[in-house]
Amino acid sequence: MALYFSEKCRLCRNAGEKLFLKGERCFTKCPIDKKGAVAPGQHGAKRRRKVSDFGLRLKEKQKLKRIYGISEAELKKYFGQARKVREATGEAMLQILESRLDNLVYRLGFVPSRRSARQLVSHGHVRVDGKAVNIPSYRVKPEQVISMDEKALSMTLVKSMLDKKDVSLPDWLERKAAVGKLAALPGRNKIDTNINEQLVVEYYSR
Ligand code: SF4
Repeated sequence: MALYFSEKCRLCRNAGEKLFLKGERCFTKCPIDKKGAVAPGQHGAKRRRKVSDFGLRLKEKQKLKRIYGISEAELKKYFGQARKVREATGEAMLQILESRLDNLVYRLGFVPSRRSARQLVSHGHVRVDGKAVNIPSYRVKPEQVISMDEKALSMTLVKSMLDKKDVSLPDWLERKAAVGKLAALPGRNKIDTNINEQLVVEYYSR
């Protein structure tokens, strides 16, 4: 029987690898684990095409967008901002992505995926330094404190995440119960995103 790929899972299938877009399900019920990352279409398994340099860069750029769940316009804007800073452009671009509010709500382990983090933020349940912020792309600065309102704390999804005992956070984040903080901007070696950001930089530098 053909294996069902949901809309999100199809993005992983197109990328040819797991992008972890569905939280817990990615560890328990992933079609790629069952079938492998077979390319889409009837002859996907047999299809072998040589990918051009451009194709390789395009693929990596698409992958980065999908992992963080952002639009082309947003990523292009972040690239432009990253190019103006002194650090390596790729690293600066990843730092901008990592300091988005939706990403931090996910990274702090309040919800299982960036997608649910985005919903929580856009529905106004997340606070930065005590003030409600409903903009998922809001850029959090080091030392700013992230928390949730009472309604979020009563949600089953959030409660089950907060009840977890074995939470391991990257060392650039701090969390006590349901309150977290971006302690410092992470260097590239502290960001575990499986991406070749240099290819993305090359894509936009054409
Ligand atoms: Fe679907 Fe997650 Fe597996 Fe991707 S990693 S195919 S989103 S279950």
